[in-house]
Amino acid sequence: MQPFTKSFTQQEPIPNAAIEAAVEVMRTGRLHRYNLAGQEAGATAELEAAYAAWQGSQYCLAVASGGQAMSIALRAIGVRPRDPILTNAFTLAPVPGAIAAVGAEAVLVEITEDLVIDLDDLSAKLHNSQPKALLLSNMRGHLADMTAVSALCAEAGVPLIEDCAHTMGARWDGRRSGSFGAFGCFSTQTYKHLNSGEGGLLVSDDPVAMARAIMLSGSYMLYERHGAAPPADVFAEIKLDTPNMSARMDHLRASILLPQLADIETSITRWNARHDALADGLRGAPGIALAHRPGAECYVGSSFQFRLPDASPDTMRAVMAEAAALGVELKWFGDPEPRGFTSSHTSWRYMASQDLPQTDAVLSTLLDIRIPLTFDVDDCAHIAAILRHVVARHVKIAA
Ligand SMILES: *Cc1c(COP(=O)(O)O)cnc(C)c1O
Repeated sequence: MQPFTKSFTQQEPIPNAAIEAAVEVMRTGRLHRYNLAGQEAGATAELEAAYAAWQGSQYCLAVASGGQAMSIALRAIGVRPRDPILTNAFTLAPVPGAIAAVGAEAVLVEITEDLVIDLDDLSAKLHNSQPKALLLSNMRGHLADMTAVSALCAEAGVPLIEDCAHTMGARWDGRRSGSFGAFGCFSTQTYKHLNSGEGGLLVSDDPVAMARAIMLSGSYMLYERHGAAPPADVFAEIKLDTPNMSARMDHLRASILLPQLADIETSITRWNARHDALADGLRGAPGIALAHRPGAECYVGSSFQFRLPDASPDTMRAVMAEAAALGVELKWFGDPEPRGFTSSHTSWRYMASQDLPQTDAVLSTLLDIRIPLTFDVDDCAHIAAILRHVVARHVKIAA
């Protein structure tokens, strides 16, 4: 078996148009979003307008990170310290972190073998936990039945906030991820669908909640210099009651993001070609289970997950070691030791420990591969061949 040699963490270079736009911002010296000359809008406000238009949302706010987008969203809908907040137990550390940042308490909801929130457990916890919100994390790009999630939240009178760090550009039944709840939260951190190093975007159709979010992001009294903000009179009600959390995005990052946003549909097509090559290469392989992707879901395949349902922890370790020896870097979500990015609720000891047997069983055999766009479709077929080979050996050993 020919080893794979490319890096799983190498992104594409920033496009030339973005580099030139960033250099232009630096030449002006006006990097702060409210540092504007004359009537210029500034790159940050331009990004907000362009993102709102692309996403199909009324309002958009650019912020410093995806984590900040989520904690601002929670505060903007009125979450207070000690409020219970539901979130799916399979997510990344910034999600429980955003809940902790507002002093609220995460109540974790089970996931299914298809890596989405379990609707039965959600329904039970919506009714039994007195939650102030559901912060739904579309972890690794898998969308739950958003029609059902929205209906359950509406029926329980619980606001929905969507963490779309992995679903920027995805749709459920034709509707964009991030447009189902009170807020959609996006990240423009390097490993997501747009790359500004760090950064975040928050969208909403609710004028009062968005006015609060803008004040929270640290807009001083300069909220009229935004690209997709509610009218100034909406701020009159709330501007003196909303603290400044200083989480603004600057012109430098926004200038890098604008040309990338213009090209995002092409990136999505490229990601899905790579993702689907991996999925096609592994579908039906003995010992390997793939998540079912419903017909209503249009995903963005920037990463790929599969399970080895019969594997013991020792087998998981052996498969990872052999894949690594052939150049394929896998992330195991069931690793008892937190390594790299953490996604196990047992690694988050700042929150109450919770019993999630179903989630633990799924994560114990779940593996993940990043798909940077520096891979081509043949690379993904090659990775799939390596994984089939490695897993087949262990399926045989077990038999
Ligand atoms: C990356 C990520 C975020 C946000 O991350 P930031 O680094 O704060 O921008 C949120 N949720 C998930 C699931 C993520 O992977």
